[in-house]
This record gives sequence, structure tokens and C-alpha cells, in this order.
Amino acid sequence: MIEYTSYLKSINWCYMLKEEPKFYVFKENDPIGVSGFRYISEISTNEVLNSDVTYNKKISIFSKDKFKCVVPGCGFVATRLIKARHKNGQIRYFPFSNNLKLITLDHIIPKFYGGTNEQENFQSMCKRCNNIKGNLPISLEELSFLIKLEKKEVIEKVKEFQKYQDRLKNG
Ligand SMILES: [Zn+2]
Repeated sequence: MIEYTSYLKSINWCYMLKEEPKFYVFKENDPIGVSGFRYISEISTNEVLNSDVTYNKKISIFSKDKFKCVVPGCGFVATRLIKARHKNGQIRYFPFSNNLKLITLDHIIPKFYGGTNEQENFQSMCKRCNNIKGNLPISLEELSFLIKLEKKEVIEKVKEFQKYQDRLKNG
């Protein structure tokens, strides 16, 4: 049985070989890669979408977006909803993609620009897209454009702009 961390490493090889990573089967109490959390059980996100169970506020936001990254052309989808227990007893749900990457919540209007923590101001976004968006007040189409460029200088420009924003914020 392959270990979780070595599995994650093997995924990079799959990409280089253009192979689909295998479905990782967790056993109860396995670490899931989120600090302190261990595996209890899981269901597919399709099952979540087809059931009436409401898990919590976060999961409802992901459900609204069908567990997909909202950036046009990204294609990231979280397919596994993993239930896990923290060592302090807390139980949480984590939506992972097939290759065990977490989907994140993005503030539609960045907090920097007065965006709130209301449910309506959140959308599902993969980590890669969310990192590139950062605090930028841009539309999904503009973000999609930036990501497709994938040029070093674009990323540098984005970082520069974020630093500029931080300076504004911190006076
Ligand atoms: Zn994405």
C-alpha cells in the first residue's frame, strides 16, 4: 500500500507521463494532508449534489458552484468530499479533486475592496487560480486571460500590484 505523501509525489510523474493519477484509497485514520486531520469516510461530490443534506455554509457554497473552479477554462473539479477528524476532536469536510488537491473559497469582491464574508460574496476556486487572483479586482474572464498567458512577467506584474496594494493598506 502506497503512503499518502509518496502518492502525492507520484502524481507529478503522472503529469509528466500524461497519465491519469490512480484513485487513492484512504483507510480509516489515515492522515489526509491537512494538518492534524485524519480520514473518517467520504462520499462523491455528485452524491452531495443529488442529496438534500446540508453540511455547512462552506459546502453549500461549493455545491452552488457544483464543486468546480469558476474560472472559465480551468476545469478543476472537486470530486471527493472527505470527512475527517482533527486530533482535538473537531470534525470537518474537505472537498478534494481526484488527485487530492483542495478546492478553496474566493472572495468575489476582495476584502481589500470592502468585500464581505457574506455567503453571496464567495465562489469556488482552485488554489492555482486563487493564488493568481490574490487581491486583484478583476473579472473571471480577465483572470482566465491572465492564467492562459502563464508568462513569468504577468505573474511578476500581478505580484507587484499586490505589493502596491499592501503598501496602500498598511499606509
Ligand atoms: Zn481554477
